[in-house]
Amino acid sequence: MTETSEDRIENVVIIGSGPAGWTAAVYAARARLDPLVFEGAPSREMIPGGQLMFTTEVENYPGFPEGVDGQELMMSMRKQAERFDTRIVTEDIVEVDASGRPFLLRSSEGRTIRARTVIVATGARANWLGLDNELRLAHSGGGVSACAVCDGALPAFRDQVLAVVGGGDSAMEEATYLTKFAKEVVIIHRRDAFRASPIMAERALENPKIRVEWNSVVTEVLGDDFITGLRLQDTRSGEEKELEVGGLFLAIGHTPNTAFLRGVVELDEAGYIGTPTQWRTATTVEGIFAAGDVMDSYFRQAVTAAGTGCMAALEAERYLAHGHPADPGVDVPAEPVAAGD
Ligand code: NAP
Repeated sequence: MTETSEDRIENVVIIGSGPAGWTAAVYAARARLDPLVFEGAPSREMIPGGQLMFTTEVENYPGFPEGVDGQELMMSMRKQAERFDTRIVTEDIVEVDASGRPFLLRSSEGRTIRARTVIVATGARANWLGLDNELRLAHSGGGVSACAVCDGALPAFRDQVLAVVGGGDSAMEEATYLTKFAKEVVIIHRRDAFRASPIMAERALENPKIRVEWNSVVTEVLGDDFITGLRLQDTRSGEEKELEVGGLFLAIGHTPNTAFLRGVVELDEAGYIGTPTQWRTATTVEGIFAAGDVMDSYFRQAVTAAGTGCMAALEAERYLAHGHPADPGVDVPAEPVAAGD
């Protein structure tokens, strides 16, 4: 167990261990801030390392011409942070008290941590239907995914009938994207009208490779090692039928991991952390920064998360040096930071 003293005041505590968290850790550690990372406690839906831990092959992270296994990529990022002596605790942060300074953080094991700055990089988790076979096949690379852009181009999905569940913009975008590889894409939507913006819905509906199962819900995911089909139920008649598919993509929204920050920093309606200054990571509470999917519901890519992790570490460093990271007039400190040398 990493040593953390309750008397000590940490320069920077990083909460979360996806690309944003580890990148922030590498930058903060190289800037000699001696960061402490809470990488999260493993649970059924969440494991340290974030969403890439559920991705078999990542083909769009720069620097890996042959692609890289998602878990391997996250282990490499973790190792890189450790190389610069980042301290890591395998617990969640369950409470942040920002009423005074330093901030007081409480961990899932009851530890209290005092911190001058906090970088929140807890990500967002894809919503799942909650069916027995669904998470099992998603975790084992069995053809179930919540990210078509991450996984859709994998060889296993080529020339297959692929299903997309959802009726929002993500479902339209993902279904359209999948037509590049699939024989056919079937959108399964629980109502008779899409929630998606008209232009995206039209684009999907006009695509000859896309068809829609309206008023339908998935009641069972079929397949042992790899998905073979779905059991669908008509929401009006209750009738059931089977649909043979070679892949299932969930596009039913994401939930940001911010429950522990309610009432602490400003969150938007969907629970994402607001970062009021454009292109910056400072939140509505001075000294608390946010990076990655927890503050970005739009791009949601590993590489954009890593980018904002870097930004958050640099902003935290400037805040510690100057006390005003979000002031648009603040220039790069005259003393170069160790981060990029
Ligand atoms: P969303 O707009 O919340 O849509 C989620 C969809 O999933 C809805 O159609 C919903 O059905 C369905 N759904 C939710 N729970 C379900 C369940 N348990 N079973 C079956 N269906 C379920 O989420 P999103 O599509 O991810 O979009 C999120 C935000 O990002 C939106 O603001 C969107 O505009 C934006 N976005 C923009 C773009 C773009 O502009 N390029 C691309 C992607 C996303 P109901 O409709 O019946 O509620």
